Amino acid sequence: MERFAIAIDGPAGSGKSTAAKETAKRLGMVYVDTGAMYRTVALACIEAGVSTAEEAAVLSVLNSMDMRIEPREDGQRIFFDGKDVTAEIRTPEIGKAASEVAAYQKVRERLVEIQQGLARRQSVVMDGRDIGTVVLPDAELKIYLDAGVEERAKRRLGELREQGRAGELSEVMEKIRLRDEADKNRAHSPLCMAEDAVLLDSTGMSAEEVVQAILAEAEKAR
Ligand code: C5P
Repeated sequence: MERFAIAIDGPAGSGKSTAAKETAKRLGMVYVDTGAMYRTVALACIEAGVSTAEEAAVLSVLNSMDMRIEPREDGQRIFFDGKDVTAEIRTPEIGKAASEVAAYQKVRERLVEIQQGLARRQSVVMDGRDIGTVVLPDAELKIYLDAGVEERAKRRLGELREQGRAGELSEVMEKIRLRDEADKNRAHSPLCMAEDAVLLDSTGMSAEEVVQAILAEAEKAR
């Protein structure tokens, strides 16, 4: 099979990772979760006691950390200094810190290089905020997955409950709104829809319906 790339971008909680992971599985492609990379840089800063507001200190953490990505049958695993942190990075606090480190151009350059390297070697379904616009501008298929903020907050709340954590819908909604605003308005690679992306609004759709819609687009793009 020819190498093929699917880029899936969209705001927090739009269902990108669930859809991307499942699409990759069904098409025999590798799923790459780029948000996990920003989250791991954020975790490394937190563990080093470095404030995400200090760009120079964040860059020094980035330059000295060892981050490894391993694709597996059940999705991507990510390792920081040899430790599997895939589950540990999925907290709202790390999400917020990830959005802060992701605003730095030098952090983005480094992670984009890793992401482009992964896509050169294999067929990928990659999700993030700038995949269709910056990381893989030549991807064969670009999807911009969106959903209403309340629906996205409900999904996030469900994930939190699964982790045994509590949360209020209004509070989760506010956090998502703030993160969207930060991601859409930053100077470097802000979240926006690529001109040639297919817009998919997943409000009211099941995860399976979203996967089916992406598979139908992939079929057309081949
Ligand atoms: O998708 P996820 O919630 O894991 O992403 C965490 C944060 O990382 C996002 O809010 C965003 O600021 C940043 N990010 C990014 N570019 C990507 C993926 C994630 O800026 N390609």
